[in-house]
Amino acid sequence: MDAIVVDLGATAIRVGCEGLAYEAPIFVERTPSSPAAIVDALCTVIRNAIVATGLSPDCVVVGCPGLVDGLGRIHKALYLPLGGLDLRRHLEDRLGFRVLVVNDVSAQACGCATEDETLFYMGIGTGIGGAQIEGGRLIQGHRGFAGEIGHISLPRLGKRCLCGNTGCLDTAASGQALEALLGVEWWDLPITSEANEALSQAGDAVGVAATAVGTLLDPQRVVVAGRLVSHDAFRTAASARWMQHEWSGVSLEFFDDTWPFAAAGLLKMGSRSTQEEVG
Ligand SMILES: [Zn+2]
Repeated sequence: MDAIVVDLGATAIRVGCEGLAYEAPIFVERTPSSPAAIVDALCTVIRNAIVATGLSPDCVVVGCPGLVDGLGRIHKALYLPLGGLDLRRHLEDRLGFRVLVVNDVSAQACGCATEDETLFYMGIGTGIGGAQIEGGRLIQGHRGFAGEIGHISLPRLGKRCLCGNTGCLDTAASGQALEALLGVEWWDLPITSEANEALSQAGDAVGVAATAVGTLLDPQRVVVAGRLVSHDAFRTAASARWMQHEWSGVSLEFFDDTWPFAAAGLLKMGSRSTQEEVG
């Protein structure tokens, strides 16, 4: 299958394609701030990728944060102004290719899991998302919104979240939370004692949440992935909180680069969707 894959984040748009996708994106663009500009930017980078690679894609697969249903409509996205947008239809109308729009962290989880593996994946970027893979299959829930671990409440957190809930993990451990606290862009945090303390608190909250899902779901691995994981203070605090009960035997793993998982997962989801359409 010739596919172009796009990881649309609140911070950056990253683009890859079959064969070239794994090491690094072929294009990275800053995500614009308005819905129309985001759709324009997506169309431009996809067209540029087609020219640069010479591919004739059968499918364009876009991973997008937020609540994305099985038809590629975005119901809610806290850090992107795309809530209520039928992104799949907009892109298909403009590009003339078949487009698949899926949740970004679900795609990363699919790309991270080995075949038949049971895994919980936490993606930490501007916000925090999650996805459960059971025996190699994505667990989607009733509406396709399963895994939103960023919006579970932890008792000691009291801030109001953009989702309407109070005390969400997202308010303490996401890139957006650290940016609000430290006043600097979250993907480029300085090495200061204040930043280290904030990262330690964030890692601690992630460790509490990861232990809850590890206990509840009994996966083989819980993976925490994203740029914040590159900081020792974050990893150390999360690991210190991790599954301290007697039956623990599940591993907690950290990856600071989500791109290889995003690329592999988006290609996998595109390929499955193409097979279903043909079959
Ligand atoms: Zn929330």
